[in-house]
Amino acid sequence: MESAYALASRELENIRMENQAEQARRHSEICAKIPKFSEVEAELMKNGTRLLGCILNKNESFEDVKSSIKALQQKKAELLVANGFSEDFADDIYSCTICRDTGFVEGKRCVCLKNLIKKHIGANSNLTEFMRGQTFEKFDMSLFANQGEGTDKVLKIMQIVCDTAYSFAENFDKNHENLLIMGNAGTGKTFVSSCIANHALERGKSVYYQTAFKLFQLFEDAKFGKGDESEAAEIVRYVYDVDLLIIDDLGTEFLTQYTTAALFDIINSRITSGKSTVISTNLAFEELSNMYSQRMTSRFRGEYKIIQTLGKDIREIIHQRDKK
Ligand SMILES: [Zn+2]
Repeated sequence: MESAYALASRELENIRMENQAEQARRHSEICAKIPKFSEVEAELMKNGTRLLGCILNKNESFEDVKSSIKALQQKKAELLVANGFSEDFADDIYSCTICRDTGFVEGKRCVCLKNLIKKHIGANSNLTEFMRGQTFEKFDMSLFANQGEGTDKVLKIMQIVCDTAYSFAENFDKNHENLLIMGNAGTGKTFVSSCIANHALERGKSVYYQTAFKLFQLFEDAKFGKGDESEAAEIVRYVYDVDLLIIDDLGTEFLTQYTTAALFDIINSRITSGKSTVISTNLAFEELSNMYSQRMTSRFRGEYKIIQTLGKDIREIIHQRDKK
């Protein structure tokens, strides 16, 4: 998968080319309508050379040439306006006037380049449109308020879940943290994962979300596919490289010796390279141990923050709310 930076740079290059093409088109339109315009431009060129002469030989007055250039520029603007064009119609076109479409200001990334990068990392995240809408701002405690007798406890726990998830999303890369979200089906694990993903994207971090089921299919495809060229192989590489990997619903995938080994390798490699991972599961620790290995669960216990969601199934409530 091509990096968001490479994609953003290419998009910026396209923007520059489009603007240059539009500039050229406008220039021909002007020259066709105002024959005198080219003459003024040629005069301006000559004056540019004269200006250079002033600097090199000091044989002419700098001020004279400058005022001559100013007059010619004025003449250009007048010609344009007199012929129904706007005064700046012949000017250079920039989509971003801050960096003039170079993407950099004083060696630092311009806000336009940052926004393009954000757009591309968002597109690489594999989050559905619905999930892109799930944010901490929408982490409304009233979602968990209809739990009957246990409501107080659920609200208390879910507030802790929300706070822990937010702090994780804000700091995972600085602290090399990982997160294991445990809890029954429908208690908000995917919702919490989406909030984390969106916050990380907002911070300019690359994110890749995938269900365990689909992720292991991709691993199988990459293994049996057309080598390094296949799309699956590309995604598998991204799974190792991305700033934040989110594996949803661990335990629902089809396990083979190969996928079990692949999962352990991802978890281990990402810990070693200081990259963060979020895993959610319906399974309890004992079930995880039985399904994968003791080795794996000891990684979780040692290297992952663990949060536990609680309560009734809120999927329908979230869906109804966000459909509106
Ligand atoms: Zn810019």
